[in-house]
Amino acid sequence: MNKLVLLIGAGFSCAVIGRELAEAGHTVTILDARDHIGGNCHTERDADTNVMVHVYGPHIFHTDDEEVWRYVNRFSTFKPFVNRVKTTAKGQVFSLPINLHTINQFFGKALRPEEARAFIEAQADTSIENPQTFEEQALRFVGKDLYEAFFKGYTQKQWGCSPTELPASILKRLPVRFNYDDNYFAHRFQGMPENGYTPLIEGILDHPKITVRLNTRFTRDMAAGYDHVFYSGPLDGFFDYELGRLGYRTLDFERFTHEGDYQGCAVMNYGDEQVPFTRITEHKHFSPWESHEGSVCYREYSRACGADDIPYYPIRLVKEKSLLEQYVKKAREVDKVTFVGRLGTYRYLDMDVTIREALDTARGFLNHLEAGKAVPAFFVDV
Ligand SMILES: Cc1cc2nc3c(=O)[nH]c(=O)nc-3n(C[C@H](O)[C@H](O)[C@H](O)COP(=O)(O)OP(=O)(O)OC[C@H]3O[C@@H](n4cnc5c(N)ncnc54)[C@H](O)[C@@H]3O)c2cc1C
Repeated sequence: MNKLVLLIGAGFSCAVIGRELAEAGHTVTILDARDHIGGNCHTERDADTNVMVHVYGPHIFHTDDEEVWRYVNRFSTFKPFVNRVKTTAKGQVFSLPINLHTINQFFGKALRPEEARAFIEAQADTSIENPQTFEEQALRFVGKDLYEAFFKGYTQKQWGCSPTELPASILKRLPVRFNYDDNYFAHRFQGMPENGYTPLIEGILDHPKITVRLNTRFTRDMAAGYDHVFYSGPLDGFFDYELGRLGYRTLDFERFTHEGDYQGCAVMNYGDEQVPFTRITEHKHFSPWESHEGSVCYREYSRACGADDIPYYPIRLVKEKSLLEQYVKKAREVDKVTFVGRLGTYRYLDMDVTIREALDTARGFLNHLEAGKAVPAFFVDV
């Protein structure tokens, strides 16, 4: 039977769920507080330079999930794009992720792969037997010099605390490649939607059974009259922050323009602690098939998220996890609402994972309907 479904947020999460439900014959309404669709993946052309700008920070599509790759290619042509990140540290420019070029340049050597592996092993601090903190883990893996140049300052700026206060689990694997591969993402499929992410999401939403209402902030009373709600806003926000706020980092983007080529690449990190920003992104390099005289760049600063800021990165340390547990418990007590996406489940999610989870959630919902079972508050483990 046709259901009336309300979805909160016009980012990838609810666009994909909405599309799947509309295709299954249900009537879908999507609300977003912003004046545009696309969520944080929103892109728009700069009026002066015509450069495609990633308004809420740079987004590169990369995945190993073939179904997700086929899904996004249904709604947009994808252009090849390989993310080759650079970093400025101690007055020089290096290639990231740390690879053989970075190691040879940094130490002034000409090592081959196995020599470099042995060299890095000799740098590692083997006195640390059971690393507990990010700093210990990094020292254990790569030693003091690489840690201080490439991890310490950047991490401090990104998370607003010392790497001695962060868990070792953040750095799970040896963050070094012993070859010259500087492709930031080790995924089979990588690319950029030719006309940006917003037209791609517009394509997903383009279905006769989907209505989108922008500039509309959801309040719980709006759920009346709907059979089910999918909510991709902040989990704590759904409950009016009554137990307190889940901690996030927010970003400030300082926009500037330049005639010509400002930095010669899309992403330049700044590892030194004294430089207050974490990176500069030059947006025209995300569309290398286009040609523009002018350039639009963002200097990116990270700081604690306040009540009026956009929540970007969930912190998820001990304190936040305990508050999260309480909100999850409350969410499970709410009838006919499913919490989805990066904000609804308080996790960092890449776009491909967001789409995978949205497809699985929509299918799970349809299966529950068919079986006459109550739909859960979460289809994923938060
Ligand atoms: C700086 C940054 C860079 C990133 N780069 C990449 C990358 O390179 N590659 C990659 O794969 N992923 C990247 N991501 C992740 C990507 O942004 C997410 O995967 C994606 O945005 C998740 O989509 P979503 O729909 O869950 O959430 P969002 O895109 O955040 O959408 C949620 C929407 O809900 C709306 N909303 C919230 N509350 C309400 C309310 N009460 N009422 C109405 N509307 C509401 C918001 O306005 C928003 O539009 C990056 C993330 C960040 C923060």
